[in-house]
Amino acid sequence: MDTKILKGIDVSLKVKKDLSVIIKKLALKDVIPSLAAIIVGDDPASKLYVSSKAKAFSKLSCHSEVFSLPSDTTKQNLIKFIEDLNDNPKFHGILLQLPLPKHLNEKEILKTIAPNKDVDGLHPENQGYIMQGDPQFISCTPYGCIKILEYYNINTNGKDVVVIGRSNLVGKPIASLLSQNFNYGNATVTICHTKTKDLNFYTRNADIIIAAVGVPNLINKNMIKNGAHIIDVGINRIDDNTKDKGYKVVGDVDFDDVLGKASSITPVPGGVGVMTVTMLLSNTVQAAIKQAKII
Ligand code: NAD
Repeated sequence: MDTKILKGIDVSLKVKKDLSVIIKKLALKDVIPSLAAIIVGDDPASKLYVSSKAKAFSKLSCHSEVFSLPSDTTKQNLIKFIEDLNDNPKFHGILLQLPLPKHLNEKEILKTIAPNKDVDGLHPENQGYIMQGDPQFISCTPYGCIKILEYYNINTNGKDVVVIGRSNLVGKPIASLLSQNFNYGNATVTICHTKTKDLNFYTRNADIIIAAVGVPNLINKNMIKNGAHIIDVGINRIDDNTKDKGYKVVGDVDFDDVLGKASSITPVPGGVGVMTVTMLLSNTVQAAIKQAKII
């Protein structure tokens, strides 16, 4: 069987094309969707993520500012910084780049972002809305996965979906979205995790697998059924001496191994990652619309 490669870039271009129409309408009313991105410390990967997000914003004539705080920022100072941004009408969205330095409790800090500016969808209020089937801001990676399924017309209705991973960032929200009574929902969803006794049993029976684990090449062709659709969220670095950098980036699924057996798969890189940044833009535009009370 030919395995279709579900390229994130094609989906991203479609979403951005739709967004650019809305952004132009907003500009006519002097509203420029604006994001405040906070980065604490100098983790190089986090810096790279934030700069790629900022680039995507400027390409679509949206505004973003990066606020870099020192790694020894206290909880009180970080919360005060966030509260000032909550009250600052210049910014429609606030992104707190994770992970935070160890002395800061992520859950405690995320709760201080105003829910109507929580464009990363990590505030408990926004995660609760998803559980209730009334999403406000959907966290960007799960939202990107849904957009990929939608764009490539991968029907989830009545399908058996296995989500591997149960993080608040990816696993739990995507599992909740896919099980709701929505278009691109209505699936029978099983969540697998580190304590799952026989991962194979579940993945082998799945019509759709969403892998959000962080273990390189965990899933191979013996673990999937013929014709399965695979969304690979994982981003893992593995050593590769043939590359200048000394490593390459792979997903949680052994891409080459499943080719020919899976119906479709998102590549890593070039799949879900592209969509995460795009959906941050989408959420920020949505926040601008709500806050400006227009359209
Ligand atoms: P996490 O570490 O918070 O969660 C990983 C989950 O995988 C846990 O719930 C754990 O129970 C489960 N798990 C770990 N090992 C397992 C195993 N052997 N079998 C079954 N389950 C296992 O990670 P996360 O933040 O959810 O991210 C998961 C992966 O997705 C990482 O590789 C991360 O880099 C990537 N990610 C990608 C994007 C993107 O834009 N593409 C965004 C966020 C995260």
